Amino acid sequence: MAEKSSAVTAEKLTSVKAEKLTAVKGMNDILPPDSARWEWLEQTVRGLMARYAYRNIRTPIVEPTGLFVRGLGEVTDIVEKEMYCFEDRLNGEQLTLRPENTAGVVRAVNEHNLLYEGGKRLYYMGPMFRHERPQRGRYRQFHQIGAEALGFGGAEVDAELILLAQSLWASLGLTDVRLELNSLGQPDERKAHRAALITHFEQHADVLDEDAKRRLHSNPLRILDTKNPAMQPVVAAAPQLLDFLGEASLAHFNAVRAILDANGVAYSINPRLVRGMDYYNLTVFEFITTQLGAQGTICGGGRYDYLIGQMGGKPAPAVGWALGVERVLELLKASSASVPEASPDAYAVLPDATALPQAMQLLQALRAQGLCVQMHASPTADGMGSMKSQFKKADASGARFALVFGQDEMARGEVGLKPLRGERQDTGTQQAFFRLDDAATLAAALRP
Ligand code: ATP
Ligand code: MG
Repeated sequence: MAEKSSAVTAEKLTSVKAEKLTAVKGMNDILPPDSARWEWLEQTVRGLMARYAYRNIRTPIVEPTGLFVRGLGEVTDIVEKEMYCFEDRLNGEQLTLRPENTAGVVRAVNEHNLLYEGGKRLYYMGPMFRHERPQRGRYRQFHQIGAEALGFGGAEVDAELILLAQSLWASLGLTDVRLELNSLGQPDERKAHRAALITHFEQHADVLDEDAKRRLHSNPLRILDTKNPAMQPVVAAAPQLLDFLGEASLAHFNAVRAILDANGVAYSINPRLVRGMDYYNLTVFEFITTQLGAQGTICGGGRYDYLIGQMGGKPAPAVGWALGVERVLELLKASSASVPEASPDAYAVLPDATALPQAMQLLQALRAQGLCVQMHASPTADGMGSMKSQFKKADASGARFALVFGQDEMARGEVGLKPLRGERQDTGTQQAFFRLDDAATLAAALRP
């Protein structure tokens, strides 16, 4: 086995040398300054999750292929055409880059018996992989943030999760987000609806596309999730699941609605909202914006009361959602919401490299006081460069102050502080001097 794999590697290496090395199509580098938006979003989410008492879970990016086939359902877009599957070269195991993370979370919950002392509220962030046609808001490596409440059966957690997402949009300053809600009922209610659906679609067999024809008998509900514009009329006219719901399902739906109403959360009921995975029942929902064209769904979720049991755990109800980070950030860019910028408090310039040891000692002390200070760094090994070029860099860094470690100041045991921005600079405020051995006083002057 080892011999075989090393031969493959050598062969591949030769072709790699000739190729231009670029990222895989549909997989993006996230670079500064854009990465600051990512960090800001992640920080906002962490703060919010803590306030709702959701705790972080981190599961592997690679899982056994069977996990997704069993979890999401064989007749779904993801399992049929979007998964990155490969065979472990060493032991032949079938593996998949996770296309979503609810299945992984449920696996972990079962494997570690996390629900033995009651329900758990969890959240995750990370990359997901789907082989789709790359376009705006649709990538092959994309990122999700998800929240899952496992081991809870009541409408209060459905509503809590929706309120949590709603507060996230508010914290981010996003206003163009609307909520669509539906109930998928329970399996027995779906059975009756399924029969009616098949009859309906059979009557319109001429307008069904290939996917729909294939799914007509294996998974007709999936047809409602089609993105094919030509099929929208026949989907719109299809029998609605809501009309098949029994008393208990309707009561659950109404209980969720009552909590949302009391909290002033606006929503519309979309009877055709079914979501892309098979594991959902009762409440399903999506948050949608009009600003991102066809990729307008920024977050989707629902209840999945049978998944934990179906994946081998002790049956327990659960509900969750996942948002698409790229889409939320794209929406953030399109809206007026402003992301706080990260510029250093001060940029340190030095005419002479011999001052470095003492200067960098002071910078360390300032950082220990919580300040952001950037040391000028030379592109070559032969000195710090002219003061003019150093001040240019200081300006470009966005720092509010320059710390000037000039020879005369240093000889007096001092460092110069020069404002680079705002009023203090316009009025020509002179350079001030601070003791090198008193970082606390200097730190106070640097604080915004
Ligand atoms: P879509 O209908 O747009 O394909 P989906 O129903 O497949 O979305 P989910 O599986 O519900 O999406 O994933 C939750 C969220 O993750 C979506 O609402 C979307 O914001 C985001 N998302 C899904 N697929 C992608 C992708 N390929 N690229 C970027 N974001 C994605
Ligand atoms: Mg999809």
